[in-house]
Amino acid sequence: MLTGKDAHRIAEMWQFLNRGAYWRGGPVGMTGIAAVDVALWDIKAKMAGMPLYQLLGGACRDGLTVYGHANVATIEDTVREAVRYRDLGYRAIRLQSGVPGLASTYGVSKDKMFYEPADADLPRETRWSTPRYLRMVPELFAAAREALGWDIELLHDVPHRLNPIEAGALGQDLEPYRPFWLEDATPAENQSAFRTIRSHTTTPLAVGEIFASIWACKQLLEEGLIDFIRATVVHAGGITHLRRIASLADLHNVRTGCHGATDLSPVSMAAALHFGLSIPNFGIQEYMRHTAETDAVFPHAWGFENGMLTPGEAPGLGVEIDETLASRHPYKRAYLPVNRLEDGTMFNW
Ligand code: MG
Repeated sequence: MLTGKDAHRIAEMWQFLNRGAYWRGGPVGMTGIAAVDVALWDIKAKMAGMPLYQLLGGACRDGLTVYGHANVATIEDTVREAVRYRDLGYRAIRLQSGVPGLASTYGVSKDKMFYEPADADLPRETRWSTPRYLRMVPELFAAAREALGWDIELLHDVPHRLNPIEAGALGQDLEPYRPFWLEDATPAENQSAFRTIRSHTTTPLAVGEIFASIWACKQLLEEGLIDFIRATVVHAGGITHLRRIASLADLHNVRTGCHGATDLSPVSMAAALHFGLSIPNFGIQEYMRHTAETDAVFPHAWGFENGMLTPGEAPGLGVEIDETLASRHPYKRAYLPVNRLEDGTMFNW
């Protein structure tokens, strides 16, 4: 489909792949479009002989402040892990902890630095209790503020496990601890659900890592229902489309807080960094470290220092792919778990 097309016509190519198709806007299709789009930006920047962020308008800041994940089974261990992250230079940390009475909890890791939530050949089954969870989170934040003080940003991901009024209540409970944000508090298929949360709490709200297009967040942005938009260069149509989302967000005082788990490869992370550096309304970037094996397959110019990621000065994205090395790691199927309430009812993951 792309053979013979002009690689310089990035915006036209995006329109061809999206508007030109009858079925459009789903996460799989938009991720495919993103792959083409990011590759074309890489090619163009390489031809220009400059790092991509320069082509996108140049740097708006010194680097991208990132948040890491402190995610252990108990509050005590999570706080200990958060202290370790702070000592590594992080200025923002997402706190997740196991919920007493539940065998496993979203975001809680066995391998602390390299948490991979897609962990089984077929989906594992987990169990969930909203009341138990709602009791745990304020205790976690109280303990973290006690240990870490106030010169560090603390974040929390729900994710999608509360209804709007429960989310409003949790937002209220966390207000004394000044969280940077409450993430994915409720599913956003119904964007107006965020009105309920908004009317009950001043805790900043972030959502959107599963959004595939601007249409998934139009109302959230236009009505000022969120503070951070988490859509990514990889799942939301590439740099071309994410710039459009960020521009609309900027009109409504919403900053980016792009998802950055390991479903972003080092290539996608590079794209996220060039994008984030170049826009006026960057907020924060999630950063889950890749393993040494992954980094070896994708040698890259981007790097972490003093709590920030910078894309580096290599032309293009600044990432190579070692295909020989990659061939030593054959595809291994891995699913995210599924989640049920304690009585067996299927629930949100
Ligand atoms: Mg999330």
